Amino acid sequence: MRVVIAGAGLAGLSCAKYLIDAGHTPIVLERRDVLGGLVAAWKDADGDWYETGLHAFFGAYPNMLQLLKELGIEDRLQWKEHTLIFNQPDKPGTLSRFDVPDIPSPFNIIASILRNNDMLTWEQKIRFAIGLLPAIVRGQKYVEEMDKYNFSDWLKRQGVGERVASDVFIAASKALTFINPDEVSSTILLTALNRFLQERYGSKIAFLDGSPTERLCQPIVDYITERGGQVRLNAPLKEILLNPDGTVKGFLLRGLNGEPDEEVTADFYVSAMSVDPLKVMLPEPWKQMAFFQKLEGLEGVPVINLHLWFDRKLTNIDHLLFSRSPLLSVYADMSNTCREYANSSRSMLELVLAPAKDWISKSDEEILSATMAELEKLFPDHFQGDKRAKLLKSHVVKTPRSVYKATPGRQQYRPTQTTPIANFFLSGSYTMQRYLGSMEGAVLSGKLTAQAISDSWCGDKEAIAPSVANSSNLQTLTRPPATNAATA
Ligand SMILES: Cc1cc2nc3c(=O)[nH]c(=O)nc-3n(C[C@H](O)[C@H](O)[C@H](O)COP(=O)(O)OP(=O)(O)OC[C@H]3O[C@@H](n4cnc5c(N)ncnc54)[C@H](O)[C@@H]3O)c2cc1C
Repeated sequence: MRVVIAGAGLAGLSCAKYLIDAGHTPIVLERRDVLGGLVAAWKDADGDWYETGLHAFFGAYPNMLQLLKELGIEDRLQWKEHTLIFNQPDKPGTLSRFDVPDIPSPFNIIASILRNNDMLTWEQKIRFAIGLLPAIVRGQKYVEEMDKYNFSDWLKRQGVGERVASDVFIAASKALTFINPDEVSSTILLTALNRFLQERYGSKIAFLDGSPTERLCQPIVDYITERGGQVRLNAPLKEILLNPDGTVKGFLLRGLNGEPDEEVTADFYVSAMSVDPLKVMLPEPWKQMAFFQKLEGLEGVPVINLHLWFDRKLTNIDHLLFSRSPLLSVYADMSNTCREYANSSRSMLELVLAPAKDWISKSDEEILSATMAELEKLFPDHFQGDKRAKLLKSHVVKTPRSVYKATPGRQQYRPTQTTPIANFFLSGSYTMQRYLGSMEGAVLSGKLTAQAISDSWCGDKEAIAPSVANSSNLQTLTRPPATNAATA
């Protein structure tokens, strides 16, 4: 069976991979000249990579880990020490760590919280632990119900003071969704906390050993094309063409460089575009349908990713850092964390600027100058006095609409992968799956779409290839991911 998929982000590629496994023929059409969507990366004139986003992988990403294993590339993840590291704004240049001991969950996380006295008082720890009990006991149902509150309000309802919100959860909220706790749905942070509490290695972090485009997306494309599928770049979907009964007749591609438009037909069609372009593309008759009208409740959130190359080493830390800066979210010295970017004498910082709504329309120079001011607080030894570190070059990548903005009440707007249109399906991290707007969510959504299409085709789940049928939302990591040695 032939399936045409618009969008070669992780969702579209994952969908195509699992369709291949189920014996079908996917044709992936990507608007841009680069694979990966929000994980896309480019090489500059010096041969240095820069990326749409700094991407961290977690132990609690079962579907991503399974995909890497199926592709034979799981060794491309560089696992770090099991710890979460935060800057301390009131003590510039110092760090506070939540070291997670290698004991069963949830005791490992509880121990890491109990042992950290920099960021939480004992009273806050106890109140927070009590507040988490319903999430632990009632699980995902409770977590979903809490979508009506923003996280600041949820904390207040648990009697946890402002300081916890400002100290710990601003950092977590910005890292997960690029917005602050007073904007983010409680479901987001409770989902992440729940996974971390329930999976021994859930909060363990890994970095890919190179650019996501080359090291993650290309192997998926190779897998697809070696088995008869196709992935076409520079193939923008212009219009979804309909049959008289409202089902899809074909995808019309915009002809580039004077070429005529092209109609591509198939048995089934998938939008693996993000939600914003999909909304623009909806055919008029579908706009009247409640299912598609709900998409109006979703929109991408702005975010900015910076890359700064320095003339010296600023740190040897081989890990993700939570900046706890009002301007910045997470950052890492990629010269330490990523094999392909390794440099023993010069740092390359990759930093996420969020929330970015007030910055997205500013010039690169303004963004850079505000970021450099923040770095003076994060690395006071290197940005004060005569011997200041010198910025050699930089790249600023702005994404005006990235993952869906996860404010309270969004869960009800997230669509299923199956639509009311018999031959049209959705994929993307914004669609309903339990891993929110993440790489894991994108991979899982693609897998669920492939499964839904196979179900629809066969009318019988048993007929799906084992790797699809056996996959579930609930896979846990049973083996500890090994911690890689420092790469500098
Ligand atoms: C700065 C940043 C940091 C992040 N950090 C993390 C992290 O640490 N961990 C994590 O798990 N996740 C992270 N994410 C989120 C993660 O990248 C996304 O959730 C995931 O990649 C989304 O994949 P997707 O396939 O659903 O959507 P997308 O990646 O948006 O893919 C959609 C694709 O559709 C294509 N398309 C659009 N219109 C058309 C058209 N008309 N025709 C054809 N193709 C079209 C697009 O070009 C794109 O390739 C981060 C994201 C950003 C931006």
